[in-house]
Amino acid sequence: MRGRGSRDTGTLSAAFASRPVRTTVDMQAQQRPPLLEVKRNLELNTALVRSSSRLPLAGSRLKRGPDQMEETLEPAKKRTRGMGAVTKVDTSRPRGPLLSTVSQTQGHTAAQKGPKKTGPRGCSTAGTVLRNQKPAPAAPAQKPATSAAPVVVGKKPGKRPAWDLKGQLCDLNEELKRYREKTQTLDRENQELREQLREVQEQATALGTERNTLEGELASVRTQAEQGQQKLETLSARVVELEECLGTKEKLVQELQKEQLQLQEERSTLSTQLEERERRFQASEAALSSSQAEVVCLREKTAAQVTLLAEQGDRLYGLEMERRRLHNQLQELKGNIRVFCRVRPVLAGEPTPPPGFLVFPPGPAGPYDPPTRLSLSRSDDRRSTLTGVPAPATRHDFSFDRVFPPGSKQEEVFEEISMLVQSALDGYPVCIFAYGQTGSGKTFTMEGGPRGDPQLEGLIPRAMRHLFSVAQEMSGQGWTYSFVASYVEIYNETVRDLLATGARKGQGGECEIRRAGPGSEELTVTNARYVPVSCESEVEALLHLAHQNRAVARTAQNERSSRSHSVFQLQISGEHAARGLQCGAPLNLVDLAGSERLDPGLTLGPGERDRLRETQAINSSLSTLGLVIMALSNKESHVPYRNSKLTYLLQNSLGGSAKMLMFVNISPLEENVSESLNSLRFASKVNQCVIGTAQANKK
Ligand code: ADP
Ligand code: MG
Repeated sequence: MRGRGSRDTGTLSAAFASRPVRTTVDMQAQQRPPLLEVKRNLELNTALVRSSSRLPLAGSRLKRGPDQMEETLEPAKKRTRGMGAVTKVDTSRPRGPLLSTVSQTQGHTAAQKGPKKTGPRGCSTAGTVLRNQKPAPAAPAQKPATSAAPVVVGKKPGKRPAWDLKGQLCDLNEELKRYREKTQTLDRENQELREQLREVQEQATALGTERNTLEGELASVRTQAEQGQQKLETLSARVVELEECLGTKEKLVQELQKEQLQLQEERSTLSTQLEERERRFQASEAALSSSQAEVVCLREKTAAQVTLLAEQGDRLYGLEMERRRLHNQLQELKGNIRVFCRVRPVLAGEPTPPPGFLVFPPGPAGPYDPPTRLSLSRSDDRRSTLTGVPAPATRHDFSFDRVFPPGSKQEEVFEEISMLVQSALDGYPVCIFAYGQTGSGKTFTMEGGPRGDPQLEGLIPRAMRHLFSVAQEMSGQGWTYSFVASYVEIYNETVRDLLATGARKGQGGECEIRRAGPGSEELTVTNARYVPVSCESEVEALLHLAHQNRAVARTAQNERSSRSHSVFQLQISGEHAARGLQCGAPLNLVDLAGSERLDPGLTLGPGERDRLRETQAINSSLSTLGLVIMALSNKESHVPYRNSKLTYLLQNSLGGSAKMLMFVNISPLEENVSESLNSLRFASKVNQCVIGTAQANKK
């Protein structure tokens, strides 16, 4: 671009520089004689001067001889002759032949040397210059010169004889006369020429001045041209810049045009979409208006249904209260203290009991009625003294609220107690015990079999799941429930937290049972963790932790778990915010220590002494439990809760409005018959107890 621009600029500037100058000169040439002509005139002038300098001067005329003069004239003559026809034409002019000849000769020479410079115009100009001069007064006198020329330049007259001096003198005089005339003529011409020279010089001076002026003008024009050139360059640069700018703008315009095209396409797409949407919108509006009408209709219906719902809510609440009342009545009719007997199956490797050892007679309603009775036959080792044959087995019949034979599933067992879990949610304290000798299946009943098999899950996880599920259902009726769990072990009348973690884990740090506050009926175990729970997995984690804690203890003290009571407590709190109702009750699930007694025939070593102390503590707490139940049943004024840590801890869940369920777990083995009988007898006593009408803990 720049290259092209600069080239253009150069061309333009050259054109600009040359054209105006030529134009100005041409214009001036119309007004004044061109400089070349002036110069030529000057040259002519010089030539004239030179010519005139070659003319014989007045002073030298006499010094020169006629030959010399002729010699002076001879070249001119020769030249005149050599010029041919042109010379002849010029010489025929009225003006001085010498001047004309010189002028023509100069012009011709100049024309020959530089025809382009002078040319015919130059000649004519020179002629014009001379013609513009005043006509030479000597012009008429040229004629005699022309006529005398043959005398001067013609053949000399024949030589007079030496003796003809007169004749010679006469000739000389003639010649002298002619020369004088010639001299005069030449003087005049000289004068004229001088005059002309002066005029020409003046003219030259004027022309010089004019030339200066013109040169000044030319310089000014050049300056202007330079300025113009600079301006042109500036403008060219600007043009380049603008061209670049234009290029950029053009690109931009192209891009914008492309963009415009894209936008137009987009716009058309959007327009189509918009139209489509508008169509949909209109359809939606139509649907909306119909929906609005429907909504109005539905609102009316909803309002009616809200009223109905409120009425039904009231009714439901009434029904719920009625359900609770009836449920409780049913539980009371079933008995506030219930005893279930569960016989575990014979385990692998255990001796099969003799047939008829344990019999489960069908229920009163027939063979499909769940059994409630149990017969245990005990053969007497003592032989009849008379016959010497073994005495017949003694049959012991027991009746309970329910008897679960060895094949009973965990699920069946839980079904029977799920009603009690509902009672706990309704605000009645509930205690479920597992009583029996070690290995009779207490822990299996309460916690379940090996982990991972849901079929073997015990009462605690099932009760928890049921509680959370029922609580969830009751939230629909406006009830909100919260649960806090604790799990303690009572060994040898000391309380230990089974949910201890960290440094206290498995260390058996002692806990104390205290009232929650002064004047409060609520009891709490110090140093024990009370963990809020809201789902089964949390409860499962707690059971796992308790199991670990027990395992640690088991290594420290042999079979301690069987020799201690495990108490899982769940404090249930319910609230019906809309009706300002609150209810709360503990659910206790107790895995009691083995109820077996020490064989009185055993000799007591140091280990057995500890075992005896343990057993005495267990037996004492178990009999205290029986005594407490009896006292409550007999409505005695004093209930010996304080006689054992277990009854002391459970005092708020026994008696009064509380509901109690005792599982008596029995071993199916004949070898355990004695302990089985003891357990069955204890359970029968409990089963005979009736605790007064239960009152829900409503606030
Ligand atoms: P306890 O806690 O009374 O000492 P366990 O619950 O530990 O007795 O039971 C002793 C053994 O008998 C365990 O191996 C347990 O799995 C098994 N067991 C107890 N009850 C049952 C049952 N109903 N079905 C199957 N196995 C049982
Ligand atoms: Mg156990």
